[in-house]
Amino acid sequence: MVAPRMKAILIRAPGEYGLVELETPACPAGGLLLQVLACGLCGGDLRTLRHGHHRVTLPFVVGQEISGVVVETGAQYSGPWQRGELLSVAPLVYCGVCEFCVEGRFELCSGYREIAQVWPGGFAEYVAIPAEAVHRGTIRRIPAGLDPVVATVAEPLSSCIHAQETGSVGLGDTVAVLGAGPVGCLHLLLARARGATTVIIADVSAERLQLCTQFHPDHMINIAQVDLVEEVRRITGGRGADVVITANPAPESQVQALEIARKGGRVLLFGGLPADRCRPGLNTNLIHYNALHVMGTTIFAPRHHGRALQLLASGRIPGDKLVTHRFPLSAFADGVKEATEGRALKVVFTNHVERSCRA
Ligand SMILES: [Zn+2]
Repeated sequence: MVAPRMKAILIRAPGEYGLVELETPACPAGGLLLQVLACGLCGGDLRTLRHGHHRVTLPFVVGQEISGVVVETGAQYSGPWQRGELLSVAPLVYCGVCEFCVEGRFELCSGYREIAQVWPGGFAEYVAIPAEAVHRGTIRRIPAGLDPVVATVAEPLSSCIHAQETGSVGLGDTVAVLGAGPVGCLHLLLARARGATTVIIADVSAERLQLCTQFHPDHMINIAQVDLVEEVRRITGGRGADVVITANPAPESQVQALEIARKGGRVLLFGGLPADRCRPGLNTNLIHYNALHVMGTTIFAPRHHGRALQLLASGRIPGDKLVTHRFPLSAFADGVKEATEGRALKVVFTNHVERSCRA
């Protein structure tokens, strides 16, 4: 049933990647072999394709937003999923032994490893899921009725849920999202689902803002044309936003986030900065005198992944609209081009699989 060789996107060196044939991975002892149904392309993948990654040893296969069907279970396998089941696999594999894991706060795990960094990822026809991931990873059944392509959005959505939970985004809030890429759009949709009444979204790219209009933000600000700080003050009657979320890698965005938050407001530093630009010169007097709560979050816990899948399955977060482009793996370069040139929100690569499994 499982073909001995498979197609995969192999990164040979930074900037040098393409479709190749590889040996299909063996099903790991205690683990699973999945046939990949869909794998989303994220900003992290784009960076690794171009520049490599300090945790990735090339040649390597990346792709970390995976939907797949179980085609094999390994020797001594003791997990809950069986052949034919559709799974959503997020890449995080928690260490299980650090003080945070022991307390159940997996989102703070200090020793986590990732599929698509330590183990090969999902831009392939098959992906091996190691025993560690079966027991301490982020794997869930895809809820009935949820398209596996749309289920790939669960991974970035999980991070957004963690951030907005930390920042207590809620009823009546005015939320400013800086960045209108796929993650910014997810923050917009999630803030509204959590009860925010006004969502402002800002970006330097007219194309990204245009793509975002389908989610009907209350206000859109093109930062290339108008002053962000003045515009947010105008919209909020001089008060500022209750919550500001930075959903982009620009240092200036963090500087401005402090300026557009209301007194006592919350600033969620969601997007990380490039290592050589991570000291952006924040005016910390704004934090002090305006009593701001500045919070950082990264990764997420299994509970966030579960909620993400429920939100997508229920339609409360319209993941189908976020996935603007679907390509077969053989058209990988086209997908990368659409994402890089800003014409796509979410690009997902799919494998056409003949299935006779329980869906
Ligand atoms: Zn841990």
